[in-house]
Amino acid sequence: MKYKKRWLIPAVLIIGLGLLSVPELTHKNAGVSESVGSVRNGKLSNGWLLPFKGKNFEYFSHFSYYILNCGYVNDKIYHTIMDAYKACESTCAEQKFRLMECTRKHGGKMVFHWTHQNGTSVDFMVPTKRGRKIDVLSDHFGLAHYLLQFNEGGQLKFSRKTEIDFETMAKHIIALDDACRKNGVRIRKLLFNTALIDELLNTSAGSMIRNRDIFIPRRVSDLINNLHDDHYHVDFEIIDID
Ligand SMILES: [Zn+2]
Repeated sequence: MKYKKRWLIPAVLIIGLGLLSVPELTHKNAGVSESVGSVRNGKLSNGWLLPFKGKNFEYFSHFSYYILNCGYVNDKIYHTIMDAYKACESTCAEQKFRLMECTRKHGGKMVFHWTHQNGTSVDFMVPTKRGRKIDVLSDHFGLAHYLLQFNEGGQLKFSRKTEIDFETMAKHIIALDDACRKNGVRIRKLLFNTALIDELLNTSAGSMIRNRDIFIPRRVSDLINNLHDDHYHVDFEIIDID
């Protein structure tokens, strides 16, 4: 009897977690999505699920993807993100990108975010490097990655040899902006720590960002600033509704 009880809790847990991941395991992307309301008060109909892994990118957390069901976006945003990663295969061939939280299957409120409600908000992990090498250290924290802190020079506070690869980040943003034009979308707002924006714009790819109509606010609350050093948040806007 004792033997049976010992297995009961883990068994219930495994079955429970398995049930929570059914939507992702059975999901098929098809048809047109509808983003209703705003990023702060909205929902998503027929959301498209981003792949957990692609050739040069990976979603950052199994728990967020399969259990919290946070890997969904509007279909136009899906194509934008995928086209951008495709372009990065040639513009920054060595880099492995990490996608962070998007939207829940049907949208609505999310645990760690004020926005992300209607399938048009996406978090992208800052690409990092150690010296000339691509860094992988900071890629394995799962949801705790949101808590990582970088200093004003873009170095990871607890391991300063790990620093933000601003050039690659700028190339990815340019790729996103290019993909937006192709898919009837635009970048409405990009949130990134204000102390780090100049580092980003002063790279050679960053100078291209200066010439585009990409809104990166220079004045945000301390809380928003503290939260947006390990990742950049993008609110997209669908401008071409068919
Ligand atoms: Zn965000």
